[in-house]
Amino acid sequence: MRPLPTPSELTRPFWDAAREHRLVRQVCRDCRTSFFSPQIACPACLSEAYDWVPSSGRGEIYSCTVVHRAPSPGFDVPYVFAIVDLEDGWSMLANVVGCEVAEATIGLPVRVTFLDFDEITLPAFEPTGR
Ligand SMILES: [Zn+2]
Repeated sequence: MRPLPTPSELTRPFWDAAREHRLVRQVCRDCRTSFFSPQIACPACLSEAYDWVPSSGRGEIYSCTVVHRAPSPGFDVPYVFAIVDLEDGWSMLANVVGCEVAEATIGLPVRVTFLDFDEITLPAFEPTGR
């Protein structure tokens, strides 16, 4: 069984949106910085005023690695883990799916997709050329 995230009070809006196949991130009301992973305050200006704002879900791979040894049972290896730069000015760590591991390279255009499990939905990314 693959270990899955447990939403907290802070992260629940992100997971609730993912369940609806929407990708959101926090945007500071004071300086408009987008930030992720979820924080209690804006990392740029420390404001605690923010909104959860939908992302286009489009971006490109900033960096990636291929995982050949599963961190625990329940992962199908090999798989690609990447930092994705979203076009709306933020980035996140996620799996890249829908391609051979060798196809995942720096600069590859990707779009969000969603992996539905019983308890939670995980955002992931796939090449846009498909
Ligand atoms: Zn700010």
